[in-house]
Amino acid sequence: MLLRDHGLRCTAPRLAVLTALDRARKDGHLTVAQIQQVLTEAGHDVDLTTVYRTVSTLTDANVLHALVIDERVTSYGLTDMPHHHAVCTRCGAIDEVPSAHLAEALAEARAGSRFALPDTAGLTLHGLCPACQHDR
Ligand SMILES: [Zn+2]
Ligand SMILES: [Zn+2]
Repeated sequence: MLLRDHGLRCTAPRLAVLTALDRARKDGHLTVAQIQQVLTEAGHDVDLTTVYRTVSTLTDANVLHALVIDERVTSYGLTDMPHHHAVCTRCGAIDEVPSAHLAEALAEARAGSRFALPDTAGLTLHGLCPACQHDR
Protein backbone atom coordinates (compact mmCIF):
# COMPACT_ATOMS: atom_id res chain seq x y z
CA MET A 1 0.00 0.00 0.00
CA LEU A 2 1.21 3.41 -1.05
CA LEU A 3 0.85 5.01 2.38
CA ARG A 4 2.86 2.37 4.23
CA ASP A 5 5.59 2.52 1.60
CA HIS A 6 6.01 6.14 2.59
CA GLY A 7 5.95 5.42 6.30
CA LEU A 8 2.49 6.85 6.83
CA ARG A 9 -0.38 5.35 8.72
CA CYS A 10 -3.52 4.61 6.73
CA THR A 11 -6.03 7.05 8.15
CA ALA A 12 -9.48 7.37 6.65
CA PRO A 13 -8.95 10.92 5.31
CA ARG A 14 -5.62 9.95 3.73
CA LEU A 15 -7.13 6.96 1.97
CA ALA A 16 -10.10 9.03 0.86
CA VAL A 17 -7.85 11.75 -0.60
CA LEU A 18 -5.74 9.19 -2.47
CA THR A 19 -8.83 7.46 -3.83
CA ALA A 20 -10.28 10.78 -4.98
CA LEU A 21 -7.07 11.70 -6.81
CA ASP A 22 -6.73 8.28 -8.35
CA ARG A 23 -10.29 8.44 -9.69
CA ALA A 24 -9.64 11.94 -11.01
CA ARG A 25 -6.47 10.86 -12.76
CA LYS A 26 -7.93 11.22 -16.20
CA ASP A 27 -8.70 14.85 -15.41
CA GLY A 28 -5.26 15.39 -13.97
CA HIS A 29 -5.07 17.23 -10.70
CA LEU A 30 -7.41 18.60 -8.08
CA THR A 31 -7.33 21.62 -5.80
CA VAL A 32 -8.04 21.23 -2.09
CA ALA A 33 -11.55 22.60 -2.62
CA GLN A 34 -12.17 20.12 -5.44
CA ILE A 35 -10.89 17.24 -3.31
CA GLN A 36 -13.24 18.21 -0.51
CA GLN A 37 -16.14 18.38 -2.95
CA VAL A 38 -15.37 14.89 -4.28
CA LEU A 39 -15.09 13.51 -0.75
CA THR A 40 -18.35 15.12 0.33
CA GLU A 41 -20.13 13.70 -2.71
CA ALA A 42 -18.71 10.28 -1.84
CA GLY A 43 -20.27 10.55 1.61
CA HIS A 44 -17.16 11.46 3.63
CA ASP A 45 -17.74 14.12 6.22
CA VAL A 46 -14.45 16.05 6.08
CA ASP A 47 -13.96 19.77 6.44
CA LEU A 48 -11.60 21.89 4.38
CA THR A 49 -9.06 22.11 7.21
CA THR A 50 -8.77 18.33 7.38
CA VAL A 51 -8.32 18.13 3.62
CA TYR A 52 -5.63 20.85 3.76
CA ARG A 53 -3.80 19.06 6.55
CA THR A 54 -4.06 15.67 4.87
CA VAL A 55 -2.88 17.00 1.52
CA SER A 56 0.11 18.76 3.05
CA THR A 57 1.14 15.64 5.00
CA LEU A 58 0.92 13.58 1.83
CA THR A 59 2.85 16.21 -0.13
CA ASP A 60 5.62 16.32 2.51
CA ALA A 61 5.85 12.53 2.29
CA ASN A 62 6.13 12.77 -1.49
CA VAL A 63 2.96 10.80 -2.12
CA LEU A 64 1.45 13.88 -3.73
CA HIS A 65 3.02 16.79 -5.47
CA ALA A 66 1.82 20.36 -5.60
CA LEU A 67 1.43 22.04 -8.95
CA VAL A 68 1.14 25.81 -9.07
CA ILE A 69 -0.41 26.80 -12.37
CA ASP A 70 -0.64 30.49 -11.86
CA GLU A 71 0.06 32.23 -8.59
CA ARG A 72 -3.50 31.71 -7.40
CA VAL A 73 -4.23 28.03 -7.91
CA THR A 74 -2.43 25.02 -6.46
CA SER A 75 -3.50 21.59 -7.62
CA TYR A 76 -2.35 18.25 -6.29
CA GLY A 77 -1.53 15.06 -8.15
CA LEU A 78 -0.18 11.61 -7.37
CA THR A 79 3.55 11.00 -7.72
CA ASP A 80 3.43 7.24 -8.34
CA MET A 81 3.86 7.65 -12.08
CA PRO A 82 6.50 10.19 -13.17
CA HIS A 83 4.86 12.75 -15.38
CA HIS A 84 4.96 16.23 -16.74
CA HIS A 85 1.95 18.47 -17.20
CA ALA A 86 -0.01 19.87 -20.08
CA VAL A 87 -2.12 22.83 -19.03
CA CYS A 88 -5.02 24.32 -20.98
CA THR A 89 -4.52 28.06 -21.40
CA ARG A 90 -8.25 28.59 -21.74
CA CYS A 91 -9.93 26.63 -18.93
CA GLY A 92 -6.98 25.54 -16.80
CA ALA A 93 -7.54 21.79 -17.26
CA ILE A 94 -4.44 19.75 -16.48
CA ASP A 95 -3.35 16.53 -18.12
CA GLU A 96 -0.46 14.25 -17.26
CA VAL A 97 2.21 13.59 -19.87
CA PRO A 98 4.23 10.46 -19.05
CA SER A 99 7.87 11.34 -18.40
CA ALA A 100 9.15 8.75 -20.85
CA HIS A 101 7.65 10.71 -23.73
CA LEU A 102 9.66 13.77 -22.83
CA ALA A 103 12.92 12.15 -21.76
CA GLU A 104 14.72 13.48 -24.82
CA ALA A 105 13.31 16.95 -24.40
CA LEU A 106 14.55 16.95 -20.83
CA ALA A 107 17.99 15.75 -21.93
CA GLU A 108 18.13 18.63 -24.42
CA ALA A 109 17.03 21.06 -21.75
CA ARG A 110 19.79 19.81 -19.48
CA ALA A 111 22.39 20.22 -22.19
CA GLY A 112 21.25 23.78 -22.80
CA SER A 113 20.88 24.90 -19.21
CA ARG A 114 23.11 25.36 -16.21
CA PHE A 115 20.28 24.19 -13.97
CA ALA A 116 20.31 20.72 -12.42
CA LEU A 117 17.22 19.12 -13.95
CA PRO A 118 16.34 15.69 -12.54
CA ASP A 119 13.87 13.37 -14.27
CA THR A 120 11.29 14.58 -11.82
CA ALA A 121 11.78 18.17 -13.01
CA GLY A 122 8.30 19.19 -14.02
CA LEU A 123 7.91 20.37 -17.56
CA THR A 124 4.73 22.32 -18.10
CA LEU A 125 3.33 22.50 -21.61
CA HIS A 126 0.65 25.02 -22.46
CA GLY A 127 -2.05 24.43 -25.04
CA LEU A 128 -5.75 23.75 -25.52
CA CYS A 129 -7.52 20.78 -23.95
CA PRO A 130 -9.85 18.61 -26.11
CA ALA A 131 -12.98 20.39 -24.89
CA CYS A 132 -11.57 23.84 -25.67
CA GLN A 133 -10.32 22.72 -29.10
CA HIS A 134 -13.90 21.83 -30.03
CA ASP A 135 -15.35 24.93 -28.50
CA ARG A 136 -13.62 27.65 -30.49
ZN1 LIG B 1 1.29 16.02 -11.65
ZN1 LIG C 1 -9.57 23.79 -21.84
